[in-house]
Amino acid sequence: MNEVKRIEELRKLLEQYAIEYYVKDAPSVSDQEYDRLMQELIALENKHPEMKDPNSPSQRIIGAVLEGFEKVSHASQMLSLGNVFNREEIQDFVLRIQESVSNPEFVVECKYDGLAMALLYENGRFVRAVTRGDGFVGEDVSNNIRTIGSIPMYIDQLDPVEVRGEVYMPKKSFEELNQKQAEQGKPLFANPRNAAAGSIRQLDSSICAQRKLDAYWYYFQNASDFGIQTQEEALEAMEKLHFRVNPMRRVCRTTEQIWDFIQEIQKIRNTLPYEIDGMVIKLNSLADQQVLGSTAKAPRYATAYKFPAEEVQTRLKDITITV
Ligand code: NAD
Repeated sequence: MNEVKRIEELRKLLEQYAIEYYVKDAPSVSDQEYDRLMQELIALENKHPEMKDPNSPSQRIIGAVLEGFEKVSHASQMLSLGNVFNREEIQDFVLRIQESVSNPEFVVECKYDGLAMALLYENGRFVRAVTRGDGFVGEDVSNNIRTIGSIPMYIDQLDPVEVRGEVYMPKKSFEELNQKQAEQGKPLFANPRNAAAGSIRQLDSSICAQRKLDAYWYYFQNASDFGIQTQEEALEAMEKLHFRVNPMRRVCRTTEQIWDFIQEIQKIRNTLPYEIDGMVIKLNSLADQQVLGSTAKAPRYATAYKFPAEEVQTRLKDITITV
């Protein structure tokens, strides 16, 4: 097929898949298939710069701001992440950073498969939780977030604080939910990510409460207000405020160290009580992060390594599916 035609076809297809995933919480293709088509689109767009389009799925954060919730603008844009798929691409990312920063350190964290959320606190009290939405405007889902027991409603800090992280459905909650759905003859959720997103978008928060969600926090939005200088310090500061922060992370200096840690986590991935679909590699220094800045869609100082697809047995039905 003509490459220009293929670009148009891929843009349409990816937009349709994004609506199924973000709006309907019912994807019709696997994340790997979506990522593969996105990589094909990016490669073709690079080959045909005359086809550049800010509306392309490769250029914008695709998300949904649904009706029924109050819309809230984010203090700063909530970004997506660029992707890498193998050791060579991690090496390229590290080399690119080293061109601008001497002796950079990186923090490597788990990439939770849930939905991004911002939490706001004022005078030591929780005031609001907002979804990523389209990156600029999200939905106020505070009533549903209050049902997640691990999220503090009071913190020992009177100045305004905004932390961001991922709300997810633990594997156990997901199995219980689908078991219940099956017993009641209702459609099953495709995966914990879609089940979590569907739960957070319930207008009746008692439904969300029954879904037993949890969360990890990984980003201190206004860290500089507190003299925090690195991502590792930001994670520690959030821990001190009793936000749930994952201790499974490592500060690395080389591609080899990053890759070794990724391999370690990949080996135990299936034993974790929550889904991760990869690892996030972030430049540690917040000042250097500022210097590198972001594209319209993703920061230049961080990237997501996505795990390859693997064959697993689902427990609900005895069929083999690729996730
Ligand atoms: P993404 O999920 O690939 O990566 C960005 C997100 O990672 C951030 O917004 C944040 O929410 C999350 N994240 C998790 N742990 C993190 C950590 N430790 N630090 C920082 N961020 C962390 O990007 P996206 O824009 O949210 O979604 C695109 C992805 O969604 C695709 O790559 C695909 O896997 C999936 N998708 C699938 C379909 C489908 O039809 N199957 C459709 C659309 C999107």
